[in-house]
Amino acid sequence: MASVTLKNVFKTYISKKEEVKAVRDLNLEVRDGEFMCLLGPSGCGKTSSMRMIVGLEDVTSGDIFIGDRRVNDLSPQDRNVAMSLETYALYTHLSVRENILFPLRAKGTPDDELQRRLNRVVAMLEIDDLLDRGPSQLSGGQQQRVSLARALIREPEVFLLDEPLSHLDVTLRTYTRAQIRHLHDELKTTFIYVTHDQLEAISLADRIAVMNFAELQQVGTREELLDYPINRFVADFIGEPAINFFECTLITEEGAASLKSNNGSLEFPIPEKWRQRILDLGKKHFTLGIRPHDVHVEPGADTVSLSGTVDVFEFLGEENHVTTKIDGDILTVVVSPFQFYTAGDEVTFHVSYNRVHIFESESQECVSTQFKLVDGD
Ligand code: ADP
Ligand code: MG
Repeated sequence: MASVTLKNVFKTYISKKEEVKAVRDLNLEVRDGEFMCLLGPSGCGKTSSMRMIVGLEDVTSGDIFIGDRRVNDLSPQDRNVAMSLETYALYTHLSVRENILFPLRAKGTPDDELQRRLNRVVAMLEIDDLLDRGPSQLSGGQQQRVSLARALIREPEVFLLDEPLSHLDVTLRTYTRAQIRHLHDELKTTFIYVTHDQLEAISLADRIAVMNFAELQQVGTREELLDYPINRFVADFIGEPAINFFECTLITEEGAASLKSNNGSLEFPIPEKWRQRILDLGKKHFTLGIRPHDVHVEPGADTVSLSGTVDVFEFLGEENHVTTKIDGDILTVVVSPFQFYTAGDEVTFHVSYNRVHIFESESQECVSTQFKLVDGD
């Protein structure tokens, strides 16, 4: 087991004489034994980061440490990091058993050790009964598990998984996902798991590192990312259903300030504790962010009300979704399975002041998160 630390890591490719900045100044510490998800849209630099950690790609600048060892100049074999790739790439002429044993045979590991490790990984991945088959006789999910087994049999200190479930259908994905988490809890190895799917990251990770456009945006637990997003991108990328945004203009009156929607009647009085700080920013345009799960049917002690007309009601079983029109704005609300609405209903919902996120529209930074961090809220 080992921690993984990236310090000021850059990756620049030269493609057709053009520079492609794939990773920019990445600073990240993955703790020993942690399950870290690297989350971000396609092309944001996730795979490049993984390939640098495992040693398949040179670092343009910066340092990578595994434990206390700087590994920039070590070959992949000397890093004790295993990576399971997007594509399974099993050897078609070898049995499942020999595919899994391949990395150990290459190292000349003794037979009893081979057997011990084989038994362990196939039991963990529930593929004991597939050992004599050939890869072509396996389903996609089985191939994926064999490929995981082949990476894990090396008993690496760090295990990297790059979108390992993207080729599986939905049912298998959910099942294999649970198995991967179980595997981590059993092995207690450091895992770094790459995905563009926020639900996967939320269900698996101890912490999530969110990337966009080659840059790390924020690292945190799912609760930290949901409740204290650093900017609009993170707020929008994490959460299901997605956060509601309202483009607003700052309105000041004697001793009071509020954010008024550009599209309609929604108005949010800025809490006293934040008023002066908002005014001091000297900005006029702000975006409100309200999560569908934070909106309630009943008012509370410190709530602001949101009135509109139901546009769509979705009955989903475990929770219901109500899409509400507030003039030109849309507010999606999650309600309990026992609450029903009909399109056209006039409704008033409530949200706690403390659950409303305020973004400065130009920089897209979340100023309410900054205030909360300063205040220890
Ligand atoms: P992700 O895994 O998040 O989808 P990648 O790390 O694969 O992102 O790619 C990041 C950026 O680097 C993309 O713009 C991609 O086109 C570019 N890129 C990746 N590999 C190479 C390469 N070998 N040569 C040139 N550009 C590359
Ligand atoms: Mg990728």
